[in-house]
Amino acid sequence: MRKAISESDWKDGFLFVGNQLALDFLNTRPVQNGEPSELLPDFSALLGWFQAADLLNSDKVGSLQRQWGGSANAMRTTEEMRQLREKLRKEIVAWEQSGSVQHSTLDELNKLMAEHPMRTRLRTNGESCSTELWFQPREPEDLFAPLAHSAATLFATVDHKRVRKCAQCVLHFYDTSKKGTRRWCSMQLCGNRLKVAAYAARRRQRHHK
Ligand SMILES: [Zn+2]
Repeated sequence: MRKAISESDWKDGFLFVGNQLALDFLNTRPVQNGEPSELLPDFSALLGWFQAADLLNSDKVGSLQRQWGGSANAMRTTEEMRQLREKLRKEIVAWEQSGSVQHSTLDELNKLMAEHPMRTRLRTNGESCSTELWFQPREPEDLFAPLAHSAATLFATVDHKRVRKCAQCVLHFYDTSKKGTRRWCSMQLCGNRLKVAAYAARRRQRHHK
């Protein structure tokens, strides 16, 4: 069964099926073989996710691991990030239905963004210029910067009617398909499983007629 999972949905052991960073962060606790599986058990796994998500390059991850790995602060920050993730999960599930976000969540995100801001820099690509976001991790808590920013971006810019939980599992995604009828986290992970089950059910029905 595990072999059927497409490599393209996974990157360095993490799932990227959400089409939004905040949803990919939410999806670091999938259910695999019926068991919830924690993909961010410790600080080095967290750094691994930051690298897989293209938020930090491998050099930076290596230096942060040497600098902070094993410290109490890094452990606490990892725990706080898992707590934020589960709080966001509740909020996003409710937001998918209602489109509104609780004040306590806004306050928490605003506090995080004030303390750990994303910064903007100007880049030139030949003749034209563009801006890009970046952040500077001076302490482990600064890793909150892209997470809080991505959650704020999700709530502020994405149509909540197009964000939903997979019909078959716990993963969430932003439906960017033209028709807006995406039902599964991915065809490989859940779509095929559901199709096979539907096919088997139809066969059984025919058999009983
Ligand atoms: Zn799924």
